Amino acid sequence: MSGSTYTVTSGDSLWKITNNIFKEKGKNLADEDIAKNVKILAEKNNLDLNSELPVNIELDTSCFDEAKKEVKNTGENTNTNTKQTKEKQKVDPENLMTDSLFEQEGVFHTVEPGKSLWGITKEYLGEDTPDSEIASMVTALAEANNIQDASNINVGTQLDISCLFDDTNLNKEVDEDKQITDPFEEKDYSNGVNFEHDGSVGAKQEYYKSTVENGALSGKTIMVNAGHGGVNSATGFDPGAAHDGYEEWTYNQEYAEELSEKLLAQGADVVMTQGYYKEAVKLIPDFAEKFGDGENNDNLKLVSIHANYNANSSASGLCYYWSEENGALNPDNDLYKSLREATDKYGLDYNYSSGETAYKLLSGANEYNIDNTIVEIGFLSNPQERAKLESEEYKDALTDALVEGIINDYKA
Ligand SMILES: [Zn+2]
Repeated sequence: MSGSTYTVTSGDSLWKITNNIFKEKGKNLADEDIAKNVKILAEKNNLDLNSELPVNIELDTSCFDEAKKEVKNTGENTNTNTKQTKEKQKVDPENLMTDSLFEQEGVFHTVEPGKSLWGITKEYLGEDTPDSEIASMVTALAEANNIQDASNINVGTQLDISCLFDDTNLNKEVDEDKQITDPFEEKDYSNGVNFEHDGSVGAKQEYYKSTVENGALSGKTIMVNAGHGGVNSATGFDPGAAHDGYEEWTYNQEYAEELSEKLLAQGADVVMTQGYYKEAVKLIPDFAEKFGDGENNDNLKLVSIHANYNANSSASGLCYYWSEENGALNPDNDLYKSLREATDKYGLDYNYSSGETAYKLLSGANEYNIDNTIVEIGFLSNPQERAKLESEEYKDALTDALVEGIINDYKA
């Protein structure tokens, strides 16, 4: 088997190894063909293209053996004997990784759970690729695959990624309204959180990176969802619960902003979202991929802020909802318990209507092991409680308690 293996040395990459093997065989491959063969080599050796190549492992390079024969049979001596041709036909197609493969249309990548077009493109182009170049490539990738909604690609989709190996796409001129941008573009928070409803259909989000380095929440990322307040194509503007001209979304937004500012002050990065929940759910895979720890997403949490309504105007108290559909999805998701302990400690009125819900945003977070809960901050249908909700004291106490509960939950 000598000649069919290669021992990885420090500084090697699959790209370099593949390129060299073909060079030794007298073949100078175009980048696109190197890319195809890198994928073949990775598959042959069960290597993850996204992980670092371990040094000193022995690679099985027999998938490239056929290339040698090919070279021998072409070149100056163009006599091809029939025996050779037959032999070639007998080769297991899985091991036939030479020119015949180059003739195949396209190179394919199967969409794994939790992967976005943005993330997949970044993996192929490299972590250090500027966002502007990724944006161009993602747009080219969506175009090449006829993807209309880049934020919603199905797991298992076979993407033709050959366009990713065409450098001219890096600077491709793209219509501004067709350009796909980083779903989590960083905002400057030096002047505080500024999160206004912008009237667009879908979910709005802004990503704020904390400037606090050694805070209790440094290294963590929280998605703070201000419930409602968005526009969806089916029903138009969604104010949430409305009562006597008071609309839920305005309370949700104020509390979400205050909470976000306090989280940022503790070192957490914050992704604020607002809008149609079905659109917000689509952000979850990108959120997990961009900010997660790559394993259990222990560094991520999601808190969705809502205000409550009840036909009985005496109903009062804040409460929590959580989601544990199918039991096993996220058994560790007890964020609401930590939050409740903190709000109890602050003496805030708790309402026992709290419970389990099938709210889609929460189950979306469950799928990615992101601790999550809905905080119903109080009843806007209760005049006394509404006055409380509008007071700075209550807003301050509740958001302080939530921050403390989140910090405690990370310790638990
Ligand atoms: Zn609501």
